[in-house]
Amino acid sequence: MTKLEQIRAAEAKLLLHTYDRNPILFVAGEGVHLIDENGTKYLDLLSGIGVNALGYAHPAIERAIAEQSRKLIHVSNLFYHEGQAELAQRLTERTGMDRVFFANTGTEAWEGAMKLARAHAGLLRREGKQIGTKFLAMEQSFHGRTFGSVSTTHKAKYREPFGPVVPGVEFVRFNDVEDLRSKFSNEVCAILVEAIQGEGGVRPISQEFFAEARKLADSTGALLIVDEIQAGMGRTGKWCAYQHYGIPQAPADRSSSVGWIRPDVTTLAKPLAGGIPLGAICCTEEAARAIHAGMHGTTFGGGPLACAVAIAVIDTIEKDGLLAHASEVGDYFMEELRKLARKHDTIVDVRGMGLMIGAELDSADLAKLAVAEMLKRRIVINVTSDTTLRFLPPYILERAQVNTAIAALDEIFTEHAAAFAGAHNSHAAGGPHRG
Ligand code: PLP
Repeated sequence: MTKLEQIRAAEAKLLLHTYDRNPILFVAGEGVHLIDENGTKYLDLLSGIGVNALGYAHPAIERAIAEQSRKLIHVSNLFYHEGQAELAQRLTERTGMDRVFFANTGTEAWEGAMKLARAHAGLLRREGKQIGTKFLAMEQSFHGRTFGSVSTTHKAKYREPFGPVVPGVEFVRFNDVEDLRSKFSNEVCAILVEAIQGEGGVRPISQEFFAEARKLADSTGALLIVDEIQAGMGRTGKWCAYQHYGIPQAPADRSSSVGWIRPDVTTLAKPLAGGIPLGAICCTEEAARAIHAGMHGTTFGGGPLACAVAIAVIDTIEKDGLLAHASEVGDYFMEELRKLARKHDTIVDVRGMGLMIGAELDSADLAKLAVAEMLKRRIVINVTSDTTLRFLPPYILERAQVNTAIAALDEIFTEHAAAFAGAHNSHAAGGPHRG
């Protein structure tokens, strides 16, 4: 039995069956490559589902872990340590928010943001405003696996086995302004969006919809909460994807000072500490009024090790110009995918921003096969929302590596697309868009 076979047998017997893993045993990583037990290198265009922003074995991360672990790995939130204020300073400056709460994961940050919205609405009610407790979430959304998160996650398979989930959530058709308007009222305590839906198929929010959400929330005091867990921390070429959305023409708008639509709350996680678990809720002073000592907390969140690594990640992104790099290489990647779409009809849409990219195919079966064929060619990608090939590479990706991926996809579609031609399926929404 190989080591991989031994591990597969042991996991099959010992673990809850929550994952269908690919039969590869990774033991190391280097730059944009993962390395398996036999020393074979894989080009990683997924970075652990959007986590390893600086790739693998980055010296800045290694240094931060080594130095901090020699000093202090954990101290409870009953005491101060050196990292939280320093990291919060960096995050508030870059997100345009005023205050931060540190959690451990994405879903935990999202739960906290939902609690903050309910607490904020409660405060407004005590101050005499009429505002309810309902959440408006989006169709195709994904916010995580804990109860609040699954309640606001659209796909039934994530919610229904665990019902009843948290009540008071209504789903709005994503980017449908009329649907948003018709479902919004002063019963709503928060509108919940991803600036780019990740699991939902790499779908950017529209300018019009986002601006309307901001306007509606402002009209009652409800919060606009933007989940940047997958899109944030530089992946799209800006610190947060919402910073791509300008303010229409609203000089008196509370966002006008920053030049882009400013949410009341945003959540970060995945790449925040370069692979060490860390999540964050960032919010405005107004939203933060709802929280006082003892209302919310965590044992591990914002520990010294995670904070030290997150500081190193942010400083490296800046020192190495990785926002501009992600934007430039991402544009190139999308251009090349659009060229490929002109050659292969099976690609019906290419979407994304920076290095958060989706290529939608007209067949779920072909999408699945393409991921497997890429893996055979030692390239890691995945499929989301059944038909969308998703690319979330480390920010250090270079054009040459994009070319490798494009050549592999070209070969795969040339070889296999004909077998799936005509098998258009209902998942492929929206017409061809080849940029
Ligand atoms: N929100 C978004 C947009 C995500 O993409 C994810 C994870 O994929 C989450 C929340 C949940 O994060 P985590 O898996 O760290 O709990």
